[in-house]
Amino acid sequence: MRPRIAVPADTLTVATNIVNERNANYSPRPITEAILKSGGVPIIFPNVPTELIPEYMPLFDGIIFAGGSDVDPTFYGEEPHQKLGPTFFKRDQFEIALVQASLKAGKAIMGICRGMQVINVSLGGTIYQDLSEVPTKTLKHSQDAPGNFPSHHVTTKDGSYLADLVGKRPYVNSRHHQALNKVAASLEVTARADDHIPEAVESVDNNQILAVQWHPENMFKHYDYSRALFADFIKRAQHAPK
Ligand code: MN
Repeated sequence: MRPRIAVPADTLTVATNIVNERNANYSPRPITEAILKSGGVPIIFPNVPTELIPEYMPLFDGIIFAGGSDVDPTFYGEEPHQKLGPTFFKRDQFEIALVQASLKAGKAIMGICRGMQVINVSLGGTIYQDLSEVPTKTLKHSQDAPGNFPSHHVTTKDGSYLADLVGKRPYVNSRHHQALNKVAASLEVTARADDHIPEAVESVDNNQILAVQWHPENMFKHYDYSRALFADFIKRAQHAPK
């Protein structure tokens, strides 16, 4: 059996020209493609009340927390600051509970961009609501170049799980205006941009969680080190407890 990879959906909150597309569940197609091309079976989860999570747990081996809106800051004990972007409380509620349940169940966990932030918040960390709040000078992390182009380097930590997969200094894309502030105790930062902004975290105790601030799904086609992240993730999901 191929590993089954869950991707919790985002919700389209605006109306489109197609009837009833307001509040549609949706998920980035490049993530679906990356899962398929890496040997996994993608499954998109709609946003449902958290009490249904136990029903979903037997349906997947690994889970990818994808990009999207800002995490509602009330989940990490802050009220919204002026530069906070759009938030969606119900998605956060569902995903935070899913991170915790997936961790407990031994599922392989991957985070992409917002996904890395939601994982950090789920485990007790906090977020800078906007990069302008970082006390030191930061690089441009909201690139104007197309999303599949790299725009800044990151340096991986020697000896980390991530360094084995992507090498010492991958050139990555960047589409975030927030960053990890306090890092959860069970996570370790294993890549940083040159301004010291965390660009990847992994589990301290094992290799269950690997999350990156960039978008490897958009660089999948042309960059070995993006494919390596998905190939490794599918392998970890294959070995997750059934
Ligand atoms: Mn960045």
